[in-house]
Amino acid sequence: MNKTDLNKYKAVLEARQTELSAGLRNREDIAIEKTPDALDEVQLAGERELAIRNLDRESNLLRNVKGALARIAEGSYGICLHCEEEIKPKRLEAVPWAKFCIRCQEAADRHEFESDSAETIDELLAA
Ligand SMILES: [Zn+2]
Repeated sequence: MNKTDLNKYKAVLEARQTELSAGLRNREDIAIEKTPDALDEVQLAGERELAIRNLDRESNLLRNVKGALARIAEGSYGICLHCEEEIKPKRLEAVPWAKFCIRCQEAADRHEFESDSAETIDELLAA
């Protein structure tokens, strides 16, 4: 990968990192509101659960973004962590923090090899 592309992905990842860190800081305290109305309680519990799930997904994403930035720093960015082939630019455009090439990602999603599965389970939940 040439330097221009690398810098482009780095800028995207850094912006994402800043955004996610700020978002996570703002929501560190998930409000536990009390209400006398039972119906409201149910709704609040639902909202709380949703907030926790979002928080979960965002902290996973942040971890992946940080991992990608670390790989840029050490010079292994854009290389699949599983088969060590280059990850297609099209995939990196869509998912700049991708750890695997599309083929390995699909295999990981099918649990054909041990990957950091938090991300893929989360992606499934989000889909
Ligand atoms: Zn691969």
